[in-house]
Amino acid sequence: MRRRDRVELKTPEQVVAMRRAGLVVADALAAVRAAARPGLTTADLDAVAGEVMAAAGATPSFLGYHGFPAVLCVSVNEQVVHGIPGPLALRPGDVLSVDCGAIVDGWHGDAAFSLVLPAEDGAAPDAGDAHLVAATEAAMWAGLAAVAVGERLGDVGAAVEDAVDASPGPDGHPLEVVEGYTGHGIGTQMHQAPEVLNHRTRSRGLGTGAGMRLRPGLCLAVEPMVVRGDAETDVLDDDWTVVTRDGSRAAHWEHTVALTERGPWVLTAHDGGEAALGALGVAVAPLA
Ligand code: MG
Ligand code: MG
Repeated sequence: MRRRDRVELKTPEQVVAMRRAGLVVADALAAVRAAARPGLTTADLDAVAGEVMAAAGATPSFLGYHGFPAVLCVSVNEQVVHGIPGPLALRPGDVLSVDCGAIVDGWHGDAAFSLVLPAEDGAAPDAGDAHLVAATEAAMWAGLAAVAVGERLGDVGAAVEDAVDASPGPDGHPLEVVEGYTGHGIGTQMHQAPEVLNHRTRSRGLGTGAGMRLRPGLCLAVEPMVVRGDAETDVLDDDWTVVTRDGSRAAHWEHTVALTERGPWVLTAHDGGEAALGALGVAVAPLA
């Protein structure tokens, strides 16, 4: 195995250190969620996250990463991931996806959420968009639960895919997983081995149970990207922003999870994943 593909297994002490980065990400995303409203620009949201990072003494993972120019990735509507914050003003009913990474003492945390901005005049949000966001979050939690109860890495992608397949939109139209982008190992680098697919590894004829054994010390970012229409994507001329080819709306959820001898701990969730994983019958095992 090539050195760069080696999986970095963490000690309990290192997982506790990663929790500090995870909580900065959780704080930054909570601040962005609280601030998000029609009329603000995506650059305004970036500034909110930047202030939280600075106050915490954390370093943004994304800023300068292969030249990326901002603290957050902010992706709106047909933008799937990697949107660059800028002058784009948020509008009522937009689907907003915010991705954030932070470094504390050399350890990374990485998480993302999507939401639907309130519609004009207090009208209910588009039911299909609301469903998209909820179903993508549920698929992420299904994947995180599989990190805890699965045996192989392939169980994670299978759980995400099955959750998406089981949740067609209110119009009956199935949701689709974007397959060109994946989750990843995380630790002393934001992106490490292994790749964490959001679907079964069909191309190699593998399915549930395939891939490396899930074992204590693994730290993974699980991050499904899901669309209401066709899953084909393009990258805009800014060389970053990933959009759906058909213009359909997309959502993106992500958490960083550590698997320890005692169980899973969702490092980028304030409650460590206790509520959402508990609802799936999985007990979390905080180390601090
Ligand atoms: Mg991310
Ligand atoms: Mg990530």
